[in-house]
Amino acid sequence: MAETGFQWVPNDESARLQALQRYGILDTPMEPAYDDLARIAAHICQAPVALISLLDSHRQWFKASVGLAVEETPLDQSVCRYAVRQPGVFIVPDLAQDARFAHFHIVTQENPLRFYAGAPLVTPDGFALGTLCVLDHQPRALSPQSEDMLGALARQVIRLLELKRANDLQGQMLADLEEARHQMSVLAHTDVLTGLANRRSFTERLRQELALLQRDCEPACLLMMDIDHFKQVNDLYGHHVGDRALQLFAALCREVFRAGDVVSRWGGEEFLAMLPATRVEQAQAVAQRVHAALAERALPGVEPPRVMTVSMGLSNFDPLLPLDQTLRALDDALYTAKRDGRNRTVVV
Ligand code: GH3
Ligand code: MG
Ligand code: MG
Repeated sequence: MAETGFQWVPNDESARLQALQRYGILDTPMEPAYDDLARIAAHICQAPVALISLLDSHRQWFKASVGLAVEETPLDQSVCRYAVRQPGVFIVPDLAQDARFAHFHIVTQENPLRFYAGAPLVTPDGFALGTLCVLDHQPRALSPQSEDMLGALARQVIRLLELKRANDLQGQMLADLEEARHQMSVLAHTDVLTGLANRRSFTERLRQELALLQRDCEPACLLMMDIDHFKQVNDLYGHHVGDRALQLFAALCREVFRAGDVVSRWGGEEFLAMLPATRVEQAQAVAQRVHAALAERALPGVEPPRVMTVSMGLSNFDPLLPLDQTLRALDDALYTAKRDGRNRTVVV
């Protein structure tokens, strides 16, 4: 028994166009699966031309075409437009004898097309997107069996479209998932307030760098920076000003350090930077640039204007020493800078 297929319901054109859009099929390249169905339709109906025609707002566009070398035609030249207005296969035995179509280019052209049979492509929710149709150069009829088969093939076209849609949705979901995973990974590695690397991700980075240094024996430096008297900033102007001051310092670091350097928020008002391929003298110059830049930047929203200072410990990143030991030495150097009056850099 023939499959009854999906229920055909006449509906408004904008909803039908929306339904067509959701398949994302218009203007996609030719595909063998659709070509095959058109070829089978041509063979079953013994017709030289077979098309999978989709009715867009201003044109009919062919996803597959056998025996016709055009990709689309204007809507006012479309027989399919009539075929989607009714359920079942739409048959015009002789286009030249039908006032609706006699003036169409395909009928008046050299070697005209005369016969048309089109099965509507009806979606599961009842929208007719276009047709699977066959055309012939002779006026003729279509056997009930062929008509039945044409309808069956039209349903297969819809199955392909549904499959494509399911694949597209799945692809989109996977892309969304990947994006969310990426976002989570960024969040896990980033300090929310300053956007700098957080301590955890930076420690990981330091361990990787240590392995590289052991292999390549390149010089590298570490710079521990601690904002001076930062507690006062909070106490005098409020925590929100303190937060903005930390953001200001992070922005300043992004400007002053070089692209290859990595700066992290190591703790509250403490920042740790790694400077690869850098000797201590070069790193000292970078530290001086930080001191100088900070001296020029007043705290946001504070009257009278006030600038921050920073104390730093600087050391060579020695690949032969355990990381903990290097960090302890940096802390000691930083402590010395504080003790000696702050706003200075002490080299280990
Ligand atoms: P020193 O010069 O010796 O470093 O003095 P200090 O005041 O900077 O150091 P202390 O360790 O006494 O105070 C650090 C302050 O940094 C205390 C803490 O409330 C503040 N702080 C840490 N994290 C944040 C933050 O995320 N936002 C704000 N607004 N303040 C923070
Ligand atoms: Mg401090
Ligand atoms: Mg501190």
